[in-house]
Amino acid sequence: MSTIAFIGVGNMGGPMARNLVKAGHAVRAFDMSAAVLKPVVDAGATGASSARDAVNGAEIVVTMLPAGQHVRGVYLEEGGVLSSAKKGTLLIDSSTIDIDSARAVHAAAEKAGFAFLDAPVSGGVGGAEAGTLTFMCGGSDEAFARAKPVLEKMGKKVVLAGGAGAGQAAKICNNMLLAISMIGTCEAFVLGEKLGLDPQKLFDIASTSSGQCWSLTTYCPVPGPVPTAPSNRDYTGGFATALMLKDLKLAQAAAQSAGAATPLGAEAAQLYALFAAKGHSGVDFSGIIRMLRGQA
Ligand code: NAD
Repeated sequence: MSTIAFIGVGNMGGPMARNLVKAGHAVRAFDMSAAVLKPVVDAGATGASSARDAVNGAEIVVTMLPAGQHVRGVYLEEGGVLSSAKKGTLLIDSSTIDIDSARAVHAAAEKAGFAFLDAPVSGGVGGAEAGTLTFMCGGSDEAFARAKPVLEKMGKKVVLAGGAGAGQAAKICNNMLLAISMIGTCEAFVLGEKLGLDPQKLFDIASTSSGQCWSLTTYCPVPGPVPTAPSNRDYTGGFATALMLKDLKLAQAAAQSAGAATPLGAEAAQLYALFAAKGHSGVDFSGIIRMLRGQA
């Protein structure tokens, strides 16, 4: 068992850190918010007063922070992880951040003699709590081999996508595809409704035809055909529009910097920005069907 510093124990990091405690690791947790730190300490972690304090004596550091600027700050600033951790510490960032920041922190960590892995997740808060997240990793084979047994305590699938930044790249490519397929699925149901088609009939046909996709068969945006989908719960408790919009903006920034043409990704980002601006940023992303019907 290892001593693990966990920095950023909010909605995702909190349950992830608790799963590491449950697995028998000694967890030293730090968050700028005392309110989110408390339940992690109550679960058996040691509360730390700063990032420097958290990494004291740790063999592994895991961070789960909002965005690239927070990750750069926690690793690169004076008193941050790179200037405080002991040599040989394995560093894992599971936040979803821009690829340029991920690569910058990779490079700085390598220069300072640390193994670093970008390891963003999918699976949401439910997956974090149940320990069933998917980790998409970018880094060296050696860093991945060291991280895998620890990540497996928080997730059920741990994949090495490639070198520095490849985990972030895989995550934003997947989520851009998801957003586009969700909007396409919603448009098909809206057109079907206008043409007088029963949504269940459209589902039965499309889900066994060439239009089938995850947004239709697992996450159907109309209530009824898939009882576990958020559409049956008034579009609550799923993947919030604000988080989808964040990932789409990251995908657009990456596309611009890499010179990739992603016109449908750009359109999806615009549509989710409009849906969020209408006051629906907390609504599950499949709720965009309401805007396409002219209801939102
Ligand atoms: P959150 O805001 O609940 O948690 C982030 C935590 O980081 C907060 O508690 C905040 O106080 C803390 N923090 C910020 N700056 C800090 C610093 N300098 N030092 C210490 N702590 C600091 O966010 P979340 O929902 O847990 O998301 C975390 C990351 O996971 C994000 O990058 C998000 O995109 C990604 N993610 C979230 C979900 C989800 O469903 N919530 C799903 C997949 C990925």
